[in-house]
Amino acid sequence: MGREGSERFYKEACEVIPGGVNSPVRSARAVGMTPLFIKEARGSRIVDADGNTYIDYVASWGPMILGHAHPRVVEAVKAAAEKGTSYGIPTEPELRMARMVVEMVPSIEMIRMVNSGTEATMSAVRLARGYTGRKKIIKFNGCYHGHVDSLLVRSGSGLATFGIPGSPGIPDEVVQHTLSLPYNDLAELRKVMKDVGGEVAGIIVEPVAANMGVVPPEADFLPGLRSLCTQHGALLIFDEVITGFRLGTGGAQQLYGVMPDLTCLGKIIGGGLPVGAYGGRRDIMSRMAPAGDVYQAGTLSGNPLAMSAGLATLQLLREEGVYEELDRKTGYLARGMAQAAEAAGVKIFQTRVGSIGCAFFTDRTVRDFETAQTSDTQAYAAFFQEMLKRGVYLAPSQFEAFFISAAHTLEDLDRTLEAAKHGFERVKEMDAR
Ligand code: PMP
Repeated sequence: MGREGSERFYKEACEVIPGGVNSPVRSARAVGMTPLFIKEARGSRIVDADGNTYIDYVASWGPMILGHAHPRVVEAVKAAAEKGTSYGIPTEPELRMARMVVEMVPSIEMIRMVNSGTEATMSAVRLARGYTGRKKIIKFNGCYHGHVDSLLVRSGSGLATFGIPGSPGIPDEVVQHTLSLPYNDLAELRKVMKDVGGEVAGIIVEPVAANMGVVPPEADFLPGLRSLCTQHGALLIFDEVITGFRLGTGGAQQLYGVMPDLTCLGKIIGGGLPVGAYGGRRDIMSRMAPAGDVYQAGTLSGNPLAMSAGLATLQLLREEGVYEELDRKTGYLARGMAQAAEAAGVKIFQTRVGSIGCAFFTDRTVRDFETAQTSDTQAYAAFFQEMLKRGVYLAPSQFEAFFISAAHTLEDLDRTLEAAKHGFERVKEMDAR
């Protein structure tokens, strides 16, 4: 399994693209490697520039819940492309998409399409501030909400991977209204809300944190957020960019029975094309221009290609049994991983909600960013490399999720578990040194 082709592309790319990648999480630096370059993908498999095939657990970081190049999605995109790719004038597919999301996601009464998750969170924060007339935003350490200036504070994802606390280029004045608190810590939040609750426009949260590895909410966390927001007149914003249409047709809000005021969506809703969306209560969303006075816009927003890919994906996800099957497969994989780790004598802390999860290389219980960071990232790197060698592609960072798709077969899972046996053994050998 040579990787000369990828290495050559990477070297060339570094001359013209910063770090050789168009998003830092694609760099494999944290696992001691250079990135693969992918030339094609189908179902559960990706193929690199050297023709190596891997079982893929990144799924483009979540969107490819049906697997790569699903025939119905490809067909929908082709049909749309033949009719023109963008008009900048309203189309029926945008209406169909809005109707479908309103039907599927319990708290959404109106929705606006944008082009990325970042745009969705950025717009939701602006709307929360515009609606409440307040400035402060509360977020949680280790949650990632895209690269919005005001939300890039103690973030997860690439910032966690590379140990970056914030970013140059963001003036202090811009983040002075952002408070970042520990995830799953209601007592701390209660204290802060008691002091400044009347100045808080909104609390934004990943209802299942999936950018510091996967950290599920404890039983009282989301209901606690809901009641604190209601009590203090702040808006509750669920960032369901990962969990939306991933944990069920109605996302995390349906799974946990907690209704936010605003919801951010992305990834799956675009079926693999660049899409984001934000939606929520009618009275709040009606403040968006041109219905209202809060401004947000987009040249390519709701474009026919993205709408077609998204609609085809959501339609398939509404078919019976899809999520049950994803859950069954992921449970099988997680149980097998736990057994393999135990057999090798490696301590891991596993988390899983539906078809996302992760294995932290730590003997601690992980419930927030601080405990997630007790993971042995060197151990993860060794595990990653061994898995890659055996044809399994995991996220090139401890602080990300694995994503199971409808295209993963039992044979894929068994091959993954066989590889994991060797992966954990390699970690054990490393520990012994
Ligand atoms: N919110 C969450 C929860 C995310 O996971 C991400 C991306 N991984 C974003 C927002 C930003 O989305 P995008 O990369 O499409 O801007």
